[in-house]
Amino acid sequence: MLAAVTAAEAGADVTVLERNPYAGKKLRITGKGRCNVTNNCSPREVVEATTSNPKFLFGAVNRFGPSDVMAFFESAGVPLKTERGRRVFPASDRATDIRDAMVERMREAAVKVKYNVRVTGIEESEGTWTVRAVSNGERRTIGADRVILATGGVSYPATGSTGDGHRMLAKLGVRVTELKPSLVPIVTKEDFSPLSGLTLKNVRLTATHAADMVYAEMGEMMFTHFGVTGPLVLSASANMQRHAPEDYRLSVDLKPALSPEELDRRLASDFAKYAARDMVNASADLMPKSLIPFVLAQAGVDPREKAGSLTKEERAAIGGALSGFRITPVDFRPIEEAIITSGGADVREIDPRTMEVKAHPGLYVIGELLDVNAYTGGFNLQIAFSTAHAAGVAAAERMKN
Ligand SMILES: Cc1cc2nc3c(=O)[nH]c(=O)nc-3n(C[C@H](O)[C@H](O)[C@H](O)COP(=O)(O)OP(=O)(O)OC[C@H]3O[C@@H](n4cnc5c(N)ncnc54)[C@H](O)[C@@H]3O)c2cc1C
Repeated sequence: MLAAVTAAEAGADVTVLERNPYAGKKLRITGKGRCNVTNNCSPREVVEATTSNPKFLFGAVNRFGPSDVMAFFESAGVPLKTERGRRVFPASDRATDIRDAMVERMREAAVKVKYNVRVTGIEESEGTWTVRAVSNGERRTIGADRVILATGGVSYPATGSTGDGHRMLAKLGVRVTELKPSLVPIVTKEDFSPLSGLTLKNVRLTATHAADMVYAEMGEMMFTHFGVTGPLVLSASANMQRHAPEDYRLSVDLKPALSPEELDRRLASDFAKYAARDMVNASADLMPKSLIPFVLAQAGVDPREKAGSLTKEERAAIGGALSGFRITPVDFRPIEEAIITSGGADVREIDPRTMEVKAHPGLYVIGELLDVNAYTGGFNLQIAFSTAHAAGVAAAERMKN
């Protein structure tokens, strides 16, 4: 939609083909229905938050960055607000306001939008393109001087992003890197179902591969019937892409504000105070009740042991389990449940200034279809907007030549 508006405002005659009966089906569910539309940060910080191929994004995000995205929506009549972590949302908390503004901007720019048209293939011949599509069961072909492919990733396929664009690119000989789930909940070896729904706030999650620390951040996470999820876990998953998920280890510091000595003093004082109680009851001031059996199990302490009879070694083991609560990943949840698809059109085949496929002049690839993705925080939509803007400008420019 942004590529269409940009190209049309630059003078191109633009038609959008959308397989759904309405625009922005995924956009409507972003940010839990509130749409975290960008991050109120500098272009450099967007690049820093990009986990795959950040350098590719540099030029595009410098030319159309977060402040441009914010100006675009504010000038379209959508007041915005910035929340914790500089996440930008519509002031109304309604993702549909963002979607509606884009549809309105397309209308103002005289973009023709055709719904219920599923593109099935694109072919090039002597500098022009034939777009093959199916609409209401009928085959159609549409001629175009330029084609901007913006079919998204393969996550949440019910929104329309089912990988058609990847298949079209592969058919044209454009390399597509392996598609994997990213920003995705993690399935664990441990059965955390008794903790399902428990949210941990202000904890520190660390992900390691062998001796390498690949992620460490403070924030919020949640236990579920299959394992763990929440902002920290989703972000960690974006850094667990190089190897199989089971090759990583996760560890949670439940008491990141306390040094090991402070934590031990705190444990000693609690256990002295509740000396006559079972460990399972003596630990209630230290952590959520449902977590106690898990921490004690990791520490190798019998929950029925009296707090007063705890040895120094056992206390140290509890301290260790609290500051390094172990979680063993066995898999990611399926790609269908991932916020983002990692992998996509190989950026080495794309001109980073224009998003044009080097081997196919006149064909542009943007958004999640590219092998460029980032953390949560509005960065993925920003990537879509920056690359869309670059392609919109370039495609319209080429039309003039
Ligand atoms: C639950 C969820 C929440 C998210 N929240 C946020 C958030 O708050 N902030 C953020 O920055 N990112 C968020 N994301 C990620 C963000 O939504 C995507 O990165 C972004 O939508 C990608 O934009 P896109 O235009 O490339 O693809 P999409 O938004 O997936 O759009 C692709 C469009 O192409 C259409 N299409 C596909 N194939 C065809 C075809 N063959 N013919 C015609 N049309 C076709 C689809 O119907 C769809 O409308 C979220 C993702 C999910 C799943």
